[in-house]
Amino acid sequence: MSISTNLNNIKSQLPEHVTLVAVSKTKPVSDLMEAYTAGQRIFGENKIQEMVEKYELMPKDIEWHMIGHVQRNKVKYMASFVALIHGVDNFKLLKEINKQALKHNRVINCLLQIKIASEDSKFGMTAQNAKEIFNSEEFTELKNIKVIGLMGMATFTDNENQLKKEFNLLTQIFNSLKGISTKNCELETISMGMSGDYKLAVDCGSTMVRVGSSIFGMRNYSN
Ligand SMILES: *Cc1c(COP(=O)(O)O)cnc(C)c1O
Repeated sequence: MSISTNLNNIKSQLPEHVTLVAVSKTKPVSDLMEAYTAGQRIFGENKIQEMVEKYELMPKDIEWHMIGHVQRNKVKYMASFVALIHGVDNFKLLKEINKQALKHNRVINCLLQIKIASEDSKFGMTAQNAKEIFNSEEFTELKNIKVIGLMGMATFTDNENQLKKEFNLLTQIFNSLKGISTKNCELETISMGMSGDYKLAVDCGSTMVRVGSSIFGMRNYSN
């Protein structure tokens, strides 16, 4: 099936309030352009260098989302153009994003990554960590970032009950934090769900799904 057919199939299944991030990591620009021509304008990458290269080659009305783990010393390479950083999992990173955004005189939207998976390998903070950040004075002074929601990665499993539990947990945490409103924090986005589980994630409250292989096909990491 073609990329545009896959894309249209998925879009037709998503409720209107759910944003589709087309996860294009490892895929060539020609594949991304096929999605672009079919109308897709939001792309997700997990490596900063790769995202920068694609940004430079592609039309400028694309929203680039950084969905991977972010090293602080690399924020500067994407600060001029990144639209949303999904994986913010510590306060030092938030401060660095603020600093780099200031240099470009812009505000960078961020999601705090919450650990919902049972695996040790997944990054993320606890609900309590997030609450402490929101309540700290240092946070309210960050004028060049805006936290617009939360992101979570479920355990790599086929067990629907476990996935449901983890997705519901993120929605519950979101609801418990939603009331917090400062100039640089207004929670409206829940980023969860990938190719295998986005429908379940939407049923559990996701407002932003990150779908890669169901659009672009399997990834080949050997080249
Ligand atoms: C790769 C990736 C996805 C997309 O995975 P698919 O299973 O190909 O849809 C979503 N989120 C993150 C953080 C990823 O790294």
